[in-house]
Amino acid sequence: MMDMTHNRIYTKLCFLGEGGFARCYQVRDQDNNIYAAKVVAKASLEQEKYRIKLNSEIVTHGLMKHERIVNFHSCFEDGQNVYLIVELCENKTLAEMLKTRRYFTEPEVRYYLIQLLDACEYMHEQQVVHRDIKLSNIFLDYNMDVKLGDFGLSAMLQTSEDRKRQRNTKKKKKKSQSFLLTFKTVCGTPNYMAPEILFGDHRHNQMVDIWSLGILMYTLLTGQHPFQMKSYNSIYQKIRDNSNRPSYSYPQNITLSNEAKDLIAKLLVNDPGQRLSISNILQHPFIQHSNLPKYIPLSALQGRPTLQ
Ligand code: ADP
Repeated sequence: MMDMTHNRIYTKLCFLGEGGFARCYQVRDQDNNIYAAKVVAKASLEQEKYRIKLNSEIVTHGLMKHERIVNFHSCFEDGQNVYLIVELCENKTLAEMLKTRRYFTEPEVRYYLIQLLDACEYMHEQQVVHRDIKLSNIFLDYNMDVKLGDFGLSAMLQTSEDRKRQRNTKKKKKKSQSFLLTFKTVCGTPNYMAPEILFGDHRHNQMVDIWSLGILMYTLLTGQHPFQMKSYNSIYQKIRDNSNRPSYSYPQNITLSNEAKDLIAKLLVNDPGQRLSISNILQHPFIQHSNLPKYIPLSALQGRPTLQ
């Protein structure tokens, strides 16, 4: 594949995986730098919702420069495809790791949450909301550290000034309405979506990512989803029922510390205004606990590791 604008040639080395949208390859450029290339067939971009997904991925992801976020290197196109060249993450995602491990230890979850909070703090400071934080979008690099990826559902927050400007510009207003509608149809699974998105509040903000971190934390510690039910409708109902007190419970075979349960309870709060902010999460006893590994060894991909 060739990036004519920047005069770069990328050689495909191996196939890495396929999502709903892209095929991904490990590639090497002429200077021997290794990357992951996400290849999106132009034929798959006929529907507007997929063009919007690709566009957010390029625009928003392209703005993100942080150690805990998959680095977006460049993008180009030819007659058939659009190519996104991103940082290679050698050890797949937390989804594959959890499948093998079934559940993680508390120190591992502490280690990964701290890294993800670092990514979220940066992202939110840049007014970006990811909106799709889940196991399969959290990549593991060669060091077994996490990197947040897949910005296909992300959005830039608008200030009230932006909104005022849009109201004054008819054309722009139309554009933003269609974006919100499309956002609803693009979402694949409601499992990690905050209640304010599921139940139709278009004016959601960064707090949707905090809800997803709560789902993620519960899932990593138990191997199960807190609101798992047979149908989407019953998942929605269980999340609605979580309004006044927790509607989820813990599997009997797993023993968790009170600190872990307390933090989950403070993240999985239906009212976004009552959810813990990132700075308060960082002060929480679960995060502050002294048992924090220095690093996660590669052996953690296969089984419970001995942590340093
Ligand atoms: P989609 O946007 O279609 O969901 P994904 O971003 O999930 O595509 O990518 C599809 C697959 O490609 C992933 O499951 C993963 O196996 C692999 N992949 C994606 N990005 C990377 C990356 N940066 N490094 C290594 N593998 C990746």
